[in-house]
Amino acid sequence: MKKYVFGVDVGGTAIKLGFFTVEGELLEKWEIPTRTQNNSENVLPDIAEAIENKLKEKGIDKEEVSGVGFGVPGPVTKEGIIQMNANLGWRNKHVAKELGELTGLPCKGGNDVKTAGLGEMWKGGAAEYDNAVFITLGTGVAAAIIVEGKVILGAMGAAGEIGHIKVNMEETNACGCGGIGCAEQYASGPGLVRMAKKKLEESDKASVLRDEEITAKTVFDAYKAGDELATEVVEAFGHYLGYSLAATAAVVDPEAFIIGGGVSKAGDFLIDNIQKKYVDKAFTQCKKTPIKLATLGNSAGIYGAAKMVL
Ligand SMILES: [Zn+2]
Repeated sequence: MKKYVFGVDVGGTAIKLGFFTVEGELLEKWEIPTRTQNNSENVLPDIAEAIENKLKEKGIDKEEVSGVGFGVPGPVTKEGIIQMNANLGWRNKHVAKELGELTGLPCKGGNDVKTAGLGEMWKGGAAEYDNAVFITLGTGVAAAIIVEGKVILGAMGAAGEIGHIKVNMEETNACGCGGIGCAEQYASGPGLVRMAKKKLEESDKASVLRDEEITAKTVFDAYKAGDELATEVVEAFGHYLGYSLAATAAVVDPEAFIIGGGVSKAGDFLIDNIQKKYVDKAFTQCKKTPIKLATLGNSAGIYGAAKMVL
């Protein structure tokens, strides 16, 4: 009888690990550093060792463990193969198989955003829905599209790349993907900073941002203090994300949008702003779709990774 499962979220600087019951109760959560030197050759052995130690510490036999799920940035095939991960230096790496051999446990893996979406669907903000779109707003904009309880991967694993929906045909700067006018160029942390700097350059409007280092946080703080220029920036953020969400709604018609990721920590005012802008642009039948904050924070990834195995 399997009683436990591990969920692992592999980030660029830290690896989060979660030890769960199969019912989804998080018993313990901890972190180890991501040792990226020599093409991250230590990462999988480090994870295996952390799991081994945890089982020893708890006096639990491997027979009682369902397996290990993991999430990593970038595309991951259904078989758990990473074709190319620039941050970790992995190429054609069969992560699920290698980690399985190291741990002696069944392993399954997926893209970190899709894994986090699965976590929110299991125990978080999307738990009451069969059809939802989980969006992370951070250094980029990406989504997990959940249709009838399943996270959609797509033919290339690129389903949910809603940060690269074109939302501004007048843009002249290129996005990281090579396209021009992508939602991510406005509705991410770097996008917010870019827009604020541009506005400061183009106008001579007074703003507290003129005397500060421009970060997503200082822009949001200035907005909350009623700064006019910061307000324009935050409105533009909602405006462009609104287009992307409206386009997404027209394709999958979700019951709700669930917003997570570092930028979402700004709070409820951001959600209100996005909701207003979304309503302007959405197809009539989709205007009432609620937009809500995710609830698992940075644990969404380990929850989803664990669920993937179950
Ligand atoms: Zn793009």
